[in-house]
Amino acid sequence: MASNSPWHNLYNSKRWYRLRYYQLQKQPLCEFHLRRKQVVSASIVDHITPHKGDVALFHDPDNLQSLCKRCHDSVKQRLENGGTVTEFDDDGRVIW
Ligand SMILES: [Zn+2]
Repeated sequence: MASNSPWHNLYNSKRWYRLRYYQLQKQPLCEFHLRRKQVVSASIVDHITPHKGDVALFHDPDNLQSLCKRCHDSVKQRLENGGTVTEFDDDGRVIW
């Protein structure tokens, strides 16, 4: 998270640290990799629906998922590319 992000303060809050901690306790494995039946430890807590500064969405535990850095960076890449990047699992189903 860049320090010049408009939501910098949200990520710096104790509330977020706690949420992030609980999410990684609840799901210590990367959820995208799990869908591919691969076990990779998660290091990043991502918002499923982009919060865009919405404080309620930001702190909604149901809007969080655990990801590894690689998957998190691909998600970001996908968003930056306008949602055109799609990944498939071993059976050819669309993962996202
Ligand atoms: Zn992953």
